[in-house]
Amino acid sequence: MLQISMVPGCLCGRIRREGPSGLSVSAQSRRSGATCPECQQRSTIIHGYYHRRPLDLPLIGRHVRLDLRVRRYACQNANCRRQTFGERLPMLIAPSAQRTKRLAKAQARIGVALGGAAGSRLAAKIAMPVSGDTVLRLIRQMPQPVLPPATVIGIDDWAMKKRLRYGTIIVDLERHCPIDLLPDRTAGTVTDWLRQRPEIEIVARDRSTEYRRGITTGAANAVQVADRWHLLSNMRQMVERWTAGAHARLRSLPPLQSVETSGKGRTKAFPRTRSDATSAADSRGRRMAQYEDIRRRYLAGETLMAMTRSTGLARATVRKFAHAESFPERSARAPRRSIIDPYLPMLEARLAEGCENGLRLWREARDQGFPGTPKQIRRWLQDRRTGLSKFTTHRNGDHARPQQAPQPPSLRSPQQLAWMIVKAPETRSVDEVDVIRRIGQDRDAIVLIHLVRRFVDLVRRVGTKARDAGPVFDTWLLEAKTCGVRAMETFAAGLEQDRSAVNAALQTGWSNAQTEGQVTKLKLFKRSMYGRGNLDLLRRRFLMAS
Ligand SMILES: [Zn+2]
Repeated sequence: MLQISMVPGCLCGRIRREGPSGLSVSAQSRRSGATCPECQQRSTIIHGYYHRRPLDLPLIGRHVRLDLRVRRYACQNANCRRQTFGERLPMLIAPSAQRTKRLAKAQARIGVALGGAAGSRLAAKIAMPVSGDTVLRLIRQMPQPVLPPATVIGIDDWAMKKRLRYGTIIVDLERHCPIDLLPDRTAGTVTDWLRQRPEIEIVARDRSTEYRRGITTGAANAVQVADRWHLLSNMRQMVERWTAGAHARLRSLPPLQSVETSGKGRTKAFPRTRSDATSAADSRGRRMAQYEDIRRRYLAGETLMAMTRSTGLARATVRKFAHAESFPERSARAPRRSIIDPYLPMLEARLAEGCENGLRLWREARDQGFPGTPKQIRRWLQDRRTGLSKFTTHRNGDHARPQQAPQPPSLRSPQQLAWMIVKAPETRSVDEVDVIRRIGQDRDAIVLIHLVRRFVDLVRRVGTKARDAGPVFDTWLLEAKTCGVRAMETFAAGLEQDRSAVNAALQTGWSNAQTEGQVTKLKLFKRSMYGRGNLDLLRRRFLMAS
């Protein structure tokens, strides 16, 4: 028969109920005799007994308190300072601890996964009650895992407090696990960390100059790899800056509708009510004033940061206004699906026959199942009347609708355009193909789209045909630097400064994708501590959980 000692190193006695949901297990050490902690001499003379009542792992869903009968021995060494000493149970419990080692370990594990407060709540439910503070203390007492030395690492920043404080995360790319969190993202910190680890051969990083400097001084012999995801991300940001600046110009280009999308459904939204139109005109006026103010100050040399502070506008808005050559109109709202859509053919047909009576049209539509009100039919009819309706003349009289800004045909936002341009052409939808064709009437757009396409292909094909990536990249760089589109030229100049790392990115398979994944996981940990845990605790929890 398999015999497992319930309490290691002890003989167990009676089990009694303790309170409504607890058990008490009495136990005593199997060994007779112990070593004096002071003089290390063995003694078997029992001086007396005392009881310790530590908490232990739960049993059949009940919390357990051990009732340990501990022997007190008399020290037989006449020269020893101690006369008596209690026996130790090193397998079970630390001296004067309130809980057994195995319970402390279980509670610390819960804490690593959940944090203090949530860990405490869960522990109470599974019969290991413990306070949140104790959970945190137990986490700190756990030994740190010893990690084997890494040779290929990824390095990236993460926000402790977004826009205010950032730290650095370091990931072992071969073993797919984080190995350290650093308190900031300065070159000095990275240098110090790398100097202690000369075994590192390859470092994947984003394109920040701080990391570049830190790695260059800290690990001069390591190969630096610019992260491919960041290369594409930086490029998308560059495209977005360009689309934001050129949006007004692109918007004035006529749409080139392909056969598939033309002539179905409504082409514009229903006309707005008078109060809607008035407030829209007001809001446009305010934006226009803000735009002119920002633009003037930007051209006079004021920094974006200073303007953000003094105007109270969002940074993104200030940047958009500053870089836009002309006022960025809000794009016209595209017509949404409406319950009137299925009845449009019938309504159009009746209108063509000369029926302009809204109520009659509504009745006919209703008889075919139209669930809406006569008002919806009248709004649709409003623009299509040949004569004035009696309601219109009566109510509006000579009030004209407020003058709306002359709206060029809508164009997707700069962000959406940037995504479309960067996207692989075969994944573009029919609408997106139309948009690309429309902006393709612009000379700069053609140049930019073409260069972007080639760069994306170069970055994406890593691993399959990477051998000739070097020369292909050089050719691309040469063209991009002199293409005549300012945003692209600046981007290319930045790549040239970081040329060896970009080349390494195009020719080796290493990337920081998993580092980004670890940052996501780190954020989960950070937030589970309500953003208040200090770095030391966060670091412990994060590394131990991985
Ligand atoms: Zn002694």
